[in-house]
Order: sequence, then C-alpha cells, then structure tokens
Amino acid sequence: MKKNLQQILDGFHIEQFQNDLIDWFTKEQRDLPWRKDRDPYKIWVSEVMLQQTRVDTVIPYFHKFMEKFPTLEALAEADEEEVLKAWEGLGYYSRVRNLHAAVKEVKEKYDGEVPRSKEQFSKLKGVGPYTTGAVLSIAYGIPEPAVDGNVMRVLSRIFLIWDDIAKVSTRKQFEEIVRHIISRENPSYFNQALMELGALICVPMNPLCLLCPVQAHCRAFHEGVEKELPVKTKTKATKKVYLRAVVLKNEEGRILIRKRPSEGLLANLWEFPNDELPLQIEEAQAFAEWISREHNVVVQSLEPIGEFEHVFSHLIWHITAYRGEAIGQTSESETSKWVTPEQLETYAFPVSHQRIWKAYNE
Ligand code: SF4
Repeated sequence: MKKNLQQILDGFHIEQFQNDLIDWFTKEQRDLPWRKDRDPYKIWVSEVMLQQTRVDTVIPYFHKFMEKFPTLEALAEADEEEVLKAWEGLGYYSRVRNLHAAVKEVKEKYDGEVPRSKEQFSKLKGVGPYTTGAVLSIAYGIPEPAVDGNVMRVLSRIFLIWDDIAKVSTRKQFEEIVRHIISRENPSYFNQALMELGALICVPMNPLCLLCPVQAHCRAFHEGVEKELPVKTKTKATKKVYLRAVVLKNEEGRILIRKRPSEGLLANLWEFPNDELPLQIEEAQAFAEWISREHNVVVQSLEPIGEFEHVFSHLIWHITAYRGEAIGQTSESETSKWVTPEQLETYAFPVSHQRIWKAYNE
C-alpha cells in the first residue's frame, strides 16, 4: 500500500539531511561550464541537453552552442537549420525544436527575460515539471522540486519507497516529498546536490554507499536493499528496423540528400536517401530500382559501404549503406538536393548518417 507523506517523513531529520547533502555538494561538486554563473538561459540550455544525455557528451556541445548562441536573443533569432546543426549528434531533436520555440516566446512575451513564475515558465513549449524546477531553483533560488529518474532513484532508496517510478503518480509523490524537505535557504544547491548524488554516488547498479554523505539517513542502506530499488516496470522491447541507405554521387560530383518530414522522428533533419526493404529480396538490385524510381535517376553502380546501427529509445535502426553513382540528368525538389561535399557539411544530419558519410570518405 502506498505510504502517505506523514508516514514517509516520520522520523526523518530534514534539517540534518539538508546540511549533510549541501555540505557535501559544496565541497565535491564537479566543475561544469553551466555552473559558472546563474544565467537562466545557460542553465535552461544545459538542462535540455542533459535530458537523456551524459554530462561528458554534453560539455563540448554546450560550449559550441554558447559560442554560436551566447544569449537568449541570439538563439531566438537564429534559423532552425542553424540550430539543428549546432545540436547535430545530441539526438532527441524535438528537445531543441521546442527550446527554440520557447525562447522565441520568451523574447516576444517576456522581453527576453526567462520568467521567474512557475505558471509562466512551465507553459513554454517543451518545458515539463523537471525543467521548471531545475531552472527556477538553480537560476532564481525558488524552492521548486526538480525530480527526474536519477532523483527518483536516490529518493526511493533514502525513503524506502517501492512504488513504480515509471508511473506519473510516483513522480508526483516524490515532488511532494521534495517540497517538504527542500532547503528554503539554498534550493539551488539542494536540487543540484540530489542530482549530483545520483550521478556520482547513488548510481543505478552499484551505489557507493560507503562514500555516501547521506548514508545515515538512508533507509534502503540500513535494510541492505539499496540494489533492489528503485522499482521500475520494464518498457516494451525495442523494435528493429532494417534500412538501406545510399550516398549517391552524380556526374558533377554532387551528392543527393533529402529532408526528413517536418513531424515525427528526427523531423526536418537531412539524410541520405533510404528505405525500409524486406530482407529476403535481392538487396542491392531492389534498392537500386527503388532509388531510380524515387529520385528519378539512372543508378549505374551500387557498392556496399558497411552496416550501421543506431539505438533510439523505442527502436533500433540497422542500416546497410551503399555508395552509388547516378548518370544522366538529375533533378531537385523542395526536399531533395544535390550538394557538393563542402555544402553537405553545413546541413544537420542524424548521427547514423554522419557515420555513413565518414565511412564513405574513408
Ligand atoms: Fe544511495 Fe547508498 Fe547513499 Fe542510500 S546510502 S542514498 S543507497 S548511495
């Protein structure tokens, strides 16, 4: 049975917990570029980048992004193509599309100042409860919970909570707990410390309990069940999709690229022509026929480049890539272009297609 808040907090030393956690963070926090100042724009960008992506991966992207778009205005005024290019390789492109739309709204509606009000900030595109809590607490010192999967793992161990963290009701329960235990003096450090604890000490598989600054408060540790928590129902098995892709060059040395649809997976990114083909048919031959039909070209040769795999949260792309040559007339449309290799480098491509391009050039 779900415990109520009173039962959960019964016997828990809130003030001591806050002190132990914040003291540890003050001494041990990592030197991260978005922690250099409290600019809400930078903190917002970093939080969006960090969703589903590791800190080490994010750091160079963050520097590059800030060089290109140093202020909220600069990002609001940038072209979508440019923004996607700066995000290229980070994946989950809807995150940056939403961020771009949201900063435009901030520029127009709030005179370029990130709103301090939870009601206003949380209504912006792509901004959920976690981002709201993270940005408002870190940038403005507002005591809002910032509960993501890492924080839920830490809290489910500390409070010995066996509810399924995949459920929205469980996340809400954790937010309620944080509202009661968050430091009013330093909500920024409190939230960041919980995140940092989840990243460095209270890690998923083998938590480093002997080094943990809040071990004395941790109920799972005292019962020896820390590795059994959190409880999370398994997500559905990922689906594997088999694709063929081609780097097709015409007689002028230009390469054919096409734009993905404006909705759905990797929307608006550019890619090499590709299609899902049944495995059993004669692969290269069937694919050459498909390219000819689809792009109105005569394909002269098709040779394999290699196999590429890309894992998304819900599916896996398995791509067999080819190099090919087109002869005769070639035509373009709004969503397909023949570009020089130099021009190609200025378009934003999904990671899997960047790898195909690299292999093509090796
Ligand atoms: Fe996590 Fe262990 Fe610390 Fe508990 S004692 S919070 S399980 S690292």
